[in-house]
Amino acid sequence: MWKDKLLVEYTCNLCGIVRAKVALPYRDEKEPITDWMEIHVMTAVARDHDIRSPNCPAKKISELWIPTVGVQWIGGPPIE
Ligand SMILES: [Zn+2]
Repeated sequence: MWKDKLLVEYTCNLCGIVRAKVALPYRDEKEPITDWMEIHVMTAVARDHDIRSPNCPAKKISELWIPTVGVQWIGGPPIE
């Protein structure tokens, strides 16, 4: 189901979400990681958090996990 997607997980201590999974497109190797983090990861996580906890006042999530084991670059696809 998530074949072509990267799954990141986040935790929000304020509303009690623990390691919710968010699927993202893989980062292009040429895309700067700071851009990718801000534009794709943080936007997707914030949107997911809003949907799950529309009344949570948290402006930032508490913890974020990005899988790096078995991937070619951070945010990239797994090595076959
Ligand atoms: Zn929250």
